[in-house]
Amino acid sequence: MHLEVSLRVLRCLLRAPPTATPSHVTSRSLTTTFTGPWNYVRGQRCNPATVDGRVIKVLEPATGGVLCEVPTSDAAAVDDAVTCAHAALPAWRQLSLRERGRLLMRAAAVIRENLHDIVNLEVRDTGKPIWEARLDIESCADAFEFYGGIAPSVAGQHVPLANGSFALVVREPLGVVAGIGAWNFPMQTAVWKVAPALVCGNTFVYKPSQFTPVTAVTLAEVLRDAGVPDGVYNVVQGEGETGGLLARHPLVAKVSFTGSVPTGVQVMRDAAAGVKAVTLELGGKGPLIVFPDACLVNAVKAALMANFLSQGQVCSNGTRVFVHRSILGEFTDKLVTATRKLKIGNPFDDDTTVGATIHEEHARKVLSYIDSAKREGCRVLCGGERELLTGPLAGGWYLQPTVLADCTDSMKVVQEEVFGSVVALLVFDDEEEVVARANNTDYGLAGAVFTKDLQRGHRVSAALQCGTVWVNTYNLYPTEVPFGGYKHSGVGRECGTAVIDAYTHTKTTYVEMGDVDCGPLYQD
Ligand code: NAD
Repeated sequence: MHLEVSLRVLRCLLRAPPTATPSHVTSRSLTTTFTGPWNYVRGQRCNPATVDGRVIKVLEPATGGVLCEVPTSDAAAVDDAVTCAHAALPAWRQLSLRERGRLLMRAAAVIRENLHDIVNLEVRDTGKPIWEARLDIESCADAFEFYGGIAPSVAGQHVPLANGSFALVVREPLGVVAGIGAWNFPMQTAVWKVAPALVCGNTFVYKPSQFTPVTAVTLAEVLRDAGVPDGVYNVVQGEGETGGLLARHPLVAKVSFTGSVPTGVQVMRDAAAGVKAVTLELGGKGPLIVFPDACLVNAVKAALMANFLSQGQVCSNGTRVFVHRSILGEFTDKLVTATRKLKIGNPFDDDTTVGATIHEEHARKVLSYIDSAKREGCRVLCGGERELLTGPLAGGWYLQPTVLADCTDSMKVVQEEVFGSVVALLVFDDEEEVVARANNTDYGLAGAVFTKDLQRGHRVSAALQCGTVWVNTYNLYPTEVPFGGYKHSGVGRECGTAVIDAYTHTKTTYVEMGDVDCGPLYQD
């Protein structure tokens, strides 16, 4: 026992950087090519064993050309990764919280040291503007720092009971967690799941979206360079079928999913069959409510952030922009002027504000929503078309940011999640009316209120049925605060300390310090 403890301490010391928050980590080089292999199991990039399986041709959004070819993982490959994660569990959960936290801190340092390379990979994979990708990847480092920092406080409880008896409530890891991600924030989505899950002592198998397979594997190399043991984090690639195999695998204790509502429902069904816990981060149709006393410039800036970041492909977007009748004209003019100034172009150019839509099929879907809005009587104030770029970018699907006027609540474009750069302007007259209309949706991920009236801001925030309400801003989500949806937008929360409950069991040990009191059951 003593030997075991001192070996652990020694191992910890050997790994420990000189300060709690290392500013410098010497990392091995992260892979910056697109040749694969694309799975990651037992601390190595690898291909699924079945060589005759399907291969996904991943297209680069900016150009439409083939970025990489990724073999799909079948049942055997999924089983191999999950078995590997399961085998890594005992040693990983044995580390102290401080030890695991320290490794996460080092992962943050590896990300910061390799920021340029990781950002480039993310831009090529997603087509989003480079300044946005930089923020996304920096936020991954933030998340590792946050969970690394709080690690030692992920403790249990001592509950004093009658006559000196007490209960100990300890937190235990769930086991192997499966993560399944969407394509709009590939690395951040993975990190929001992986960082808290790992700090709690779980091991992980992640399946990124088939459209953005790259940085989930980069994350594996980041964790490797930080010193996280082989097998703790693994990646399998594939489409829905692979995701289903992962969610249903008997050794998976929990599924953390980010994606659309229909897929989330299916994942929940699959998890239910194995009585597994789920976290579901699903779609949204957020309201952004602008009252007449709001600072209009800030409200316009927020409307841009609520609709046009990542080509509008953001779950928490405020796509239903409710504007008070008295300021509709002024707000609309300012918004349209600002929208026209957005620059569609090469995602790698620093001044580009609108990059490429993820793929043609999705772009056509977004355009079909604009067509349906026109048929239902909307006016297109700006945008509404594909922008054809030239040279190598000619094959990308670049859509003009679009503002629609004369929208009504019953229109398809107002009811359904478009997941593209399309603002629907709606007019309102009073607070009660706008709150009822804002809540009249199956979604409940996020929303915002713009007003200088403090009481109104809080009143409306309290009345909105969604997991996040921004007052006088939009689409900020620091790791420190919980994020997740009401209603069909999801189950559970990511980020903040709230997520710790999602990645741990509590075990209660009740200790009786006196004699057993069983009332009349026992007679001397
Ligand atoms: P999607 O549901 O099509 O796919 C998401 C992931 O699920 C992919 O990895 C896909 O391969 C996998 N998948 C598909 N079928 C599956 C199945 N039967 N079993 C298991 N996995 C399966 O979603 P998408 O198009 O990738 O992403 C867009 C959606 O994600 C939007 O609705 C958006 O709002 C939502 N989203 C939500 C959040 C959030 O935090 N709430 C964040 C990002 C995206």
